[in-house]
Amino acid sequence: TPNLRGVNLVRTYGDGTARRAALRDVSVDLFPGQIVLLMGPSGSGKSTLLAILSGLLEPDTGQVLADDDGTLRDVWAMTDQEREAYRRRHTGFIFQGYNLFPALTARQQLEIVLKWGEGADSADARRRADEMLDRLGLEKNKNKKPAQLSGGEKQRVAIGRALVKNPSFMFADEPTSALDWENGQKVIELLRDAAHQRGASVLCVSHDHRILPFVDVYYHLEDGHLERRPLPTD
Ligand code: ADP
Ligand code: ADP
Repeated sequence: TPNLRGVNLVRTYGDGTARRAALRDVSVDLFPGQIVLLMGPSGSGKSTLLAILSGLLEPDTGQVLADDDGTLRDVWAMTDQEREAYRRRHTGFIFQGYNLFPALTARQQLEIVLKWGEGADSADARRRADEMLDRLGLEKNKNKKPAQLSGGEKQRVAIGRALVKNPSFMFADEPTSALDWENGQKVIELLRDAAHQRGASVLCVSHDHRILPFVDVYYHLEDGHLERRPLPTD
């Protein structure tokens, strides 16, 4: 059964006659343990859909039903405070430009999520941050700040920060766009592990066709319409 459902989502931007639809009646289900790829041309509504499903952007109409500790709840019917708590507990978001804190070391980027997000104590946060950085092959980079890291290393830190709290839902916006394919492939394998080994629902927006063999489900978005497409192996 799905643990996150987008139902009849509509989103427009602008006012009056300049009003344009970014999403026109989009429905989509995410399942635990699956990695879903969302492709489509620039301006087709991918970022808008990701933002709505992750609880960052409110739809004009429609629902986002998400499993919140065992019950499906409408994310956009929650109070702002409830939605914030839900997002902190259950969602991880990987932004296109990494969005790392320039002044913090790799370890601190992860620790802060655990301390602020779930109130972990310092020793626990440090242990879990180190464990995740080791898994990502960043053993030697724990005390480095973003400026001292390569693009691939920064992206792995950003993924570690999203993964370290073991979220039920992972959202990734063009996670490989700034990377060469060797690093891009590592990133996709990490997202796939989050789904296949940890049981997360992973939704990944990308232009990169090389990702197709690594995903379970493939959707194409065009002009605000979503369509499921067969995978090359289907
Ligand atoms: P991409 O194609 O890489 O997803 P875009 O260049 O379409 O990104 O948009 C980048 C960001 O700028 C989007 O997340 C969106 O919120 C914002 N944006 C896009 N188009 C407009 C617009 N016409 N007016 C204001 N903001 C926009
Ligand atoms: P994609 O991620 O596929 O590039 P977006 O979701 O960013 O698409 O944008 C979908 C459509 O909505 C585009 O026509 C874009 O220009 C428009 N749009 C996105 N964000 C904004 C915004 N903040 N204000 C106005 N128009 C926007």
